[in-house]
Amino acid sequence: AAPTSIMVGTGKGAENGILIKDASSLELAHKIQTIVLDKTGTITEGKPTVTDFLALDRENAELLKLVAAIERNSEHPLAEAVVEYVKQQGIEIPEVTEFNAIAGSGVQGKVGNALVQVGTRRWMHELQIDTSELNPYQESWETGGKTVVSIAVDNVARGLIGIADRVKVSSPAAVSALQRMNIEVVMLTGDNSQTAEAIAREVGIKRVFAEVRPDQKVAKIQELQAEGKIVAMVGDGINDAPALAQANVGLAIGTGTDIAIAASDITLIAGDLQGIVTAIQLSRATIRNIQ
Ligand code: ADP
Ligand code: MG
Repeated sequence: AAPTSIMVGTGKGAENGILIKDASSLELAHKIQTIVLDKTGTITEGKPTVTDFLALDRENAELLKLVAAIERNSEHPLAEAVVEYVKQQGIEIPEVTEFNAIAGSGVQGKVGNALVQVGTRRWMHELQIDTSELNPYQESWETGGKTVVSIAVDNVARGLIGIADRVKVSSPAAVSALQRMNIEVVMLTGDNSQTAEAIAREVGIKRVFAEVRPDQKVAKIQELQAEGKIVAMVGDGINDAPALAQANVGLAIGTGTDIAIAASDITLIAGDLQGIVTAIQLSRATIRNIQ
């Protein structure tokens, strides 16, 4: 009887936009105790836009020109937002040499003789760059849930960019539905703690792993598994793929990258978190039919 129930369950999933790769993940989904959600593109829309900009000691356009020159070489969603913002102002973007991306930290390159670095405050501190003049702005923007990126030119802090990414309309209700099912919901992100906490509060998540570098995401899943938990991970990005594979059940957002989809057991076509609730309900119903 079991294989028939599984087939019915898989078929019902497909009708609801939930693509289940193999039977075992459908059987396992009802046991999930902890769900780890990536922030950007999973809880939020993943369509960041620049909302704030600050240049300390030169014309906005002068600094934006340098930043856009660097970011044009990056595939990060934040980079796209910055380039779009600068292009909209009709600013001409110069060429870059010696471009480098440091995963989880930022990007750098040379514009003429100037070394331009754009990324996290933590990275600026690692580079021994003093950000104290920027800190009050940074903190106030982060408290509003914005991702704040620092700009340094020749190892001196020169400005800040604030980038907002809206929470998906369906996220808060999905989080509370999961919590009512006695599942702990955890956020995992490379973004800074203040921004992550602000978004977590908005959707009702209490446990947050922030400032996690891409190569540390797997270890965070293992940590939860070491607590004896059956762990699901939900993500959309290239960075999320190893964590999706490590989780007991990996769920990819259908609008995410192909790499995340390939690394996961279940794909949520519609791209909102309500699909997780439906997948677990389906698993519970399927198991009831088997028993
Ligand atoms: P996430 O887990 O949210 O996808 P990442 O690990 O990709 O985050 O990046 C972490 C942080 O590193 C970002 O929030 C940003 O501050 C900084 N960062 C990464 N790439 C860039 C970039 N191209 N431009 C500016 N900042 C970047
Ligand atoms: Mg993401």
